[in-house]
Amino acid sequence: MATIELTNLGHVYGNGHVGLDGIELDVRDGEFLALLGPSGSGKTTLLRTIAGFLRPSAGNLAIGGRSVAGDGVWLPPEKRELGMVFQDHAIWPHLNVAGNVGYPLKLEGVPRIQIARRVAAVLDQVGLSEYAKRKPAALSGGQRQRVALARAIVAKPQALLLDEALSALDEPLRARLRLELRALTREEGLTAVHVTHDRAEALGLADRVAVLNRGKIQQVGTPRELLENPVNAFVASFVSDATLFPGTVVDGHFHADHPGLRFRIGSDTHGNPAIRVIGERALAGARPRRAVAAVAPTGVRLEPAARKAPLDIQLARVTSALYGRHGYETSLDWAGTGLRVLVDGWVPKEGELVRPVVEMAHVFCGESGGGEGRAA
Ligand code: ADP
Ligand code: MG
Repeated sequence: MATIELTNLGHVYGNGHVGLDGIELDVRDGEFLALLGPSGSGKTTLLRTIAGFLRPSAGNLAIGGRSVAGDGVWLPPEKRELGMVFQDHAIWPHLNVAGNVGYPLKLEGVPRIQIARRVAAVLDQVGLSEYAKRKPAALSGGQRQRVALARAIVAKPQALLLDEALSALDEPLRARLRLELRALTREEGLTAVHVTHDRAEALGLADRVAVLNRGKIQQVGTPRELLENPVNAFVASFVSDATLFPGTVVDGHFHADHPGLRFRIGSDTHGNPAIRVIGERALAGARPRRAVAAVAPTGVRLEPAARKAPLDIQLARVTSALYGRHGYETSLDWAGTGLRVLVDGWVPKEGELVRPVVEMAHVFCGESGGGEGRAA
């Protein structure tokens, strides 16, 4: 059983910087888990702690049901039976492809014939059979990354750890390698932890996604759970690209500080938005509470502006519209707030005035909307 269990795991760097704080995470056997977060959120720190390159300063880590760190236990990286792939394929330039891939088995003292057999099988799996004798310098970036992947799985590890393993590759190669990676881990029944700052990659690939920010896990869930039920404004903004509107909840209404956004909380048939409220007793009492409304690009409909009235706070101006796979990713200036909206069915023009109608939002009570930060 190649589960990975992290219990109250913490890491403090030598300079006192808290890299990880109270991490609780259970990666299931055979699961593909993406670790998603902005740059500096602690993704590499967490992966290196699992690998054994960093010692946790608190908590426990178990791999395959066996404790490997914490409570006086310490198993060095080479004994953890893990495969690793990094962003910059650290493959040896002086060895050919077969030599690179077979290296971990050679270290283990596996007989030559068996090494040759296993290397041939793995090269076949990653589509590099014809390149066995090539030197890395004569390979493309994608092929080198396949070599790194083959080398990581050659010794049949308990789990595969990937740190931005595809981030250095260009599309469409990157998209293809994504699919190959997923197929490979399925075939081998491998547990995988895949670190990325790319939310589309995380949501597209993973069984579950763990969202990390400032060394803390914000939420763990399936891609759908994260999109439909984000637990806080950070997750909504990072995972769904939601625009955050700080404001106040009072008497069942949300009043954004922004002059154009006010709505009654709850869904109804009178054109009010369907709003989910997060935070206990949000609607109880008339006492105003600070809150944040997160509005995803899919939660807004744009109506044509009836007349040109640039001072009308109900209106927003299109600042850019980029054509994407799901429609136009449109940015608006709405009375000074940058609102992102996904537009389908018509072509928004730069400079055009439109009326944003918020149809869906998540309201997080007790959050300020500042501080959490929105990642680039
Ligand atoms: P990510 O991989 O998500 O970009 P890292 O895990 O590399 O983030 O880093 C998390 C935080 O820990 C960052 O603020 C980073 O500056 C800090 N950090 C990383 N390595 C060290 C180190 N060796 N000493 C002190 N701080 C570090
Ligand atoms: Mg990193």
